[in-house]
Amino acid sequence: MTVLARTFFRARRQAIEWWGLIVVVAFAYLMAMGQFSATRLWSGELLVLTGLAVYAATLGRAVMRELGPVAGEGGRRRAGATLSVDAAHEIELGLLLVTGVYILIVATGGLGSFLYPLVYALVSFLLIVNKQRWIAGIWLAATCVLEILVGYASGRAGLEGHWGIVAMHLTYLLFFAAGNLLVLTSLARRLRGQHAESVSAELARVRQEARDFRLIASQLPLASRAVRSREEEELRMGQGAVQAIHEQLFFTIDLLSVSLELHTAALLWVEADDEERKPGERVDSRKTPRLVIKEMATASEMVIDTPTIESPGVLAAVLRDPKPLRLKSLGGRRLPPYYQGPEPVTDLCAVPLTDGKVVRGFLCADRIDNRPFSDLEQEALIKAGSQCLRIIEQERAFAAVERGKYEQEQFYRASELLNQALTLEDVYAKTFAALGAMAPYELAVITRHDAGAGVHEVIAVRCNAQLDQQGLSERELEHWRALASSLEAKRFRDGVALVSMAIKNRHHMPANGEYADTSVAVFDPGTKLDKARSVLVLPLVRGEQVLGTVTLVSSRAKAYPPAAREMLRVISHQVGVSLQNARMYESMEERATTDGLTGLTNHRAFQERLEHLHALAERTGQKFSIILTDIDHFKSVNDTYGHPVGDAVLKRVAAIFTQHARKVDIVARYGGEEFVLVLPDTDGEGAAVFANRLREEIAAQSITSDNGSFSITLSLGVAEFPGDGLDRHELIEKADQALYYCKEHGRNRVTRVRDLP
Ligand code: GH3
Ligand code: MG
Ligand code: MG
Repeated sequence: MTVLARTFFRARRQAIEWWGLIVVVAFAYLMAMGQFSATRLWSGELLVLTGLAVYAATLGRAVMRELGPVAGEGGRRRAGATLSVDAAHEIELGLLLVTGVYILIVATGGLGSFLYPLVYALVSFLLIVNKQRWIAGIWLAATCVLEILVGYASGRAGLEGHWGIVAMHLTYLLFFAAGNLLVLTSLARRLRGQHAESVSAELARVRQEARDFRLIASQLPLASRAVRSREEEELRMGQGAVQAIHEQLFFTIDLLSVSLELHTAALLWVEADDEERKPGERVDSRKTPRLVIKEMATASEMVIDTPTIESPGVLAAVLRDPKPLRLKSLGGRRLPPYYQGPEPVTDLCAVPLTDGKVVRGFLCADRIDNRPFSDLEQEALIKAGSQCLRIIEQERAFAAVERGKYEQEQFYRASELLNQALTLEDVYAKTFAALGAMAPYELAVITRHDAGAGVHEVIAVRCNAQLDQQGLSERELEHWRALASSLEAKRFRDGVALVSMAIKNRHHMPANGEYADTSVAVFDPGTKLDKARSVLVLPLVRGEQVLGTVTLVSSRAKAYPPAAREMLRVISHQVGVSLQNARMYESMEERATTDGLTGLTNHRAFQERLEHLHALAERTGQKFSIILTDIDHFKSVNDTYGHPVGDAVLKRVAAIFTQHARKVDIVARYGGEEFVLVLPDTDGEGAAVFANRLREEIAAQSITSDNGSFSITLSLGVAEFPGDGLDRHELIEKADQALYYCKEHGRNRVTRVRDLP
């Protein structure tokens, strides 16, 4: 019974593997029996026979290569790993296509068939897809040429005397061959170029990782390199580690299989339960976990094709009670779960690989020659099993070191970036990027603390939540975005919230980075962070001062482990320094562009802003007006009441101008007691009305001093663009002329350029 089942199983397997060959042989047989003689068969026999010969040769070679070098190991092979598609299968596919096309051509009239050009298309196609395209190409092309010539010579194709048709077919063939040659050589060249590029990129990467991190920090053009995402980097390192684990595990398993003369040695892994359990959800203990074949060395053909095993079968007992299992005299009745067909297994030994009390996997060994496993052999299996666990452990440690290196690199890059940030906006952006490279967050918030007033102010918010992020629904995304915008520019008072505590203690809060109790306020009591599982508030310390905080919020649990917290703490110091530098830079900028006495735009900045506005007006065709004004008899104010009173007058005038001007207007101190205003989108008439209002407002002011009260008046000249001139220097010149006209004609008045005589 078992023998019958085994034979049937093997036959079915072979049929699946060799179906291409079976079809081709069947067709050749039909042809040999004269099935196609009615449709003027000429060189078809030759085509199929040549094909078969090449097929058999290639297949033979592929099989020999597969078995040859490992013959000493009794034909043991590595299962579970993906085998590369071998050449035999490619040739098989080619042959099937040739046969199919041949049937079509024969059915539609042979060499004279309108479908005949399909042969050329086929040759082209096979040349492009076939890996060993030169061999395949040569025999396919040779087959076609031979076919035509033999067809002519045999006289069975009905072509006698039609050299023209033969020549045409040969020309076609030549044409296709030449075309292919061109396409393929350029393709090959491009591929070779790509390969060279990827090799040099890989070399650069290896070299870079080998460098000491200090060197990395000093040699890399930091600003130009985009900060790689942490997930991407972890994936890359994980892939490398997985590959190395597999190599070493297979070596161990194979060694075991040879030394214990096993039929199969298999390392099975209990599938990791990836889904994060929601709090309160109970583990379903009835559910038996699936097993995955990690590595296998076997001489059997009956092992399952898929890497996962749905049911643990005889191993269920070990899964429940992690002790070594030894079975003998099985007689092929109770099979280990990695066989899919009947196999005469007689002895089995399975040892659990445990991590504490948890079963991580099994190391299984079986034989078919009725030799029970001895205690010594079981001991060897247990040792090999712990060796496997150690390999995985080592790789994990290696990956952790790699990750550490990556983090250091990120860290140096982040601080370099922060050092380069000049403006506050720049500091915020670089801070968010640097934090993101080091730890995950859905929300990052920077606050400023005014210790005197006891008030916190949110100065920058970044929502990092994305849909493609693991397990984030549309609703949750909406939640984070809404939370981010509700925090924008928020002001709140000192209190018991984490932000206040972090500043008071000059230490990050909460101490372990977990956010277990969502009733604890982070910012103000009104802002609820229900969806947060991890929160970290870092104080921005600068010497004795605490400037504010930066807060990270994540929906993941344990997002900020100790190593990450340490790195983030140092980065937050860097942020503190950068923030203060940026504030200093911005105040310096401000000092350079504003007038110290009045706080108005100074002369230099005014020229710049006017240039800007003028260029814009030229482009958009928009109007604007300039008002140039000078205080009347200001010298006598100074002389009568003293210079400090004169200064106070200048400040008062500036304040009134600013108060009356719109946000878009430029109000500047032109020099001495001269001021200038530029009103965008305003014509001369509107500007004159505004100038008169200013004049009346100033004249109505009563200025008090130790030597009594007095009032002042203004003279104002108005020029408009483009009516009074196109050049901005010309416009100012004309406004000055109008101002001079006021001085000449009694002062305390407004003159438009167009009203000048
Ligand atoms: P006019 O009506 O023709 O303009 O008469 P004026 O006295 O205002 O003459 P002018 O514009 O030539 O005088 C400018 C005076 O403004 C001279 C200078 O002492 C004074 N002044 C310029 N800058 C300042 C300043 O920053 N503070 C003070 N207190 N006085 C200044
Ligand atoms: Mg003056
Ligand atoms: Mg004056």
